[in-house]
Amino acid sequence: MDKQILMANLSWVDYQKRVQNGKEAVLLPIGAIEQHGPHLPLATDLLFAEAIAKRCADAIGAIVAPTITYGCKSQCRSGGGNHFCGTTSLDAKTMIDHLVDVVREFARHGVRKLGLIDIHYENDMYVLEACDLAIRELKYAGITDFKIVKPNVNVILDLERLRPFYPEGFSSIALEHAGKLETSVMLYLHPELVQQDRYPPDVFAHFPPYDTFPPETQHVPPSGALCPTSGASRELGETVILNLADGCATAFRQGFAV
Ligand SMILES: [Zn+2]
Repeated sequence: MDKQILMANLSWVDYQKRVQNGKEAVLLPIGAIEQHGPHLPLATDLLFAEAIAKRCADAIGAIVAPTITYGCKSQCRSGGGNHFCGTTSLDAKTMIDHLVDVVREFARHGVRKLGLIDIHYENDMYVLEACDLAIRELKYAGITDFKIVKPNVNVILDLERLRPFYPEGFSSIALEHAGKLETSVMLYLHPELVQQDRYPPDVFAHFPPYDTFPPETQHVPPSGALCPTSGASRELGETVILNLADGCATAFRQGFAV
């Protein structure tokens, strides 16, 4: 029988056996609850991160911890912005504190290898800050062999491999929010959650070269999608997921080996 990979389904006794003394790595998906157009679920980033984490855990023999569900505030130019109903976000300091607490608990129970899969762009720098603070705190507590590996999904995503799906060229990874790529990923992972009769009009968002507070939400397409969905397909979604799962698994193997 395959080993159970979900921490949430293990008894404490089984979890202890597997992580004590740093035996097995724990992978923590980090997501968001954020609008992804009228056609994709609010949990798109979270489901995306979980799918990658589960595939990596299968590949390298690791445990997947329950996902960090809420993410840092959506910004207009990357996620449409926090003004959309349903985009339910944390302040950055809350995210940092939350993550440091969870990392400390993993370490206290014996985990020594922690892998992070973060798909929500706005989390990135705060997740890195939380990692830095957690490692510093653990070091002061005498734990110096705890390692966090966070694959950089933007580097791992191989645009060459995606080229056949983008005969028009890959216009902007920065604007890829609720567009062709994410729609494809959801068509592959959870087709039952994609409302294909609600695809938004094909438009690219255009933003001025500055941000404002309060945000100028008039630059954001009303649908919440920042780029076209045309051409979305299950095949593209599968290619993206396999590319990222392979790449992240390789990153974990390398990162944990040294
Ligand atoms: Zn997303």
